[in-house]
Amino acid sequence: MSGAGRFAPSPTSSLHLGNLRTALLAWLWARSQHRRFLLRIEDLDQQRVAAAPAVAEQQLADLAALGIDWDGEVVRQGDRLELYRRAAEGLETYECFCTRREIAQASQAPNGGPGAPSWRPYPGTCAGLSSAQRAERRLTRQPAIRVRAGGTAFTVHDAHAGEVSGPVDDFVLFRADGTPAYNLAVVVDDGLQGITQVVRADDLLDSSPRQGWLAGRLGFEVPDYVHVSLALNAQGQRLAKRDGAVTLADRQELGQGPAEVLAELCASAGLEKGRDAAEVLARLLPGDLVNDLVWTPWVVGA
Ligand code: GLU
Repeated sequence: MSGAGRFAPSPTSSLHLGNLRTALLAWLWARSQHRRFLLRIEDLDQQRVAAAPAVAEQQLADLAALGIDWDGEVVRQGDRLELYRRAAEGLETYECFCTRREIAQASQAPNGGPGAPSWRPYPGTCAGLSSAQRAERRLTRQPAIRVRAGGTAFTVHDAHAGEVSGPVDDFVLFRADGTPAYNLAVVVDDGLQGITQVVRADDLLDSSPRQGWLAGRLGFEVPDYVHVSLALNAQGQRLAKRDGAVTLADRQELGQGPAEVLAELCASAGLEKGRDAAEVLARLLPGDLVNDLVWTPWVVGA
């Protein structure tokens, strides 16, 4: 099979066990299906990246320590700003002057029941501004740029969740300071890099219809998705670095090497362990990644 998978960490803090588990599963999905595996550093949030220097290099070193390898050069979103601008040129867009607070107030419709997204669809406040109104607002505020999606919906395919449908709102393409938004950059990169399968944590499942829709609008193939479960702490919250002893470096201090961490990741996913990622791959049985994978959240340390 051709195509490529990827892992796309944000270099704002060290990879924790949940991130490493997602990376391992993404690598196993790609390698077991003979896809290329690419690494992309999602460093568009310059403020948070600057606050955590050298994190990206540490992330790459941690992946390598587990035996997770990648093809070609590591791509950094910060080097690709022009590509995002060019890709967005053909889209119908409009300027949005709303503050976060105004958006929250305007979209206080009660949450739409089961299947409703965890994000609030933009209510379209600025969609119909006249050019005079826009000129006036520009005097006091820099606008964000939104795509005009026109209140549509889109369905993507996920290997575990099946057909996933969701609303596509007029989401932000560029922030008020001109920075490309995650939803634009991720779709442009996945498209340009020839990514055919996106394996990532399931907190992004309900963003995938918007991303799939945008991929189609930009002329890219819509990738297949595999949303794997999140890692949680003992309180049932999303695992974070502050939970302690959750990075490779933390574990090293406790006397555990990469092979022991890898064994823990494998156990959490229901896979046979190996000394490194290649050995885990060699021991995979058909169906392991689909039917037998543990899809429920991993409570670390439980
Ligand atoms: N950079 C995102 C994160 O670290 C991942 C985005 C994606 O996989 O689509 O959460």
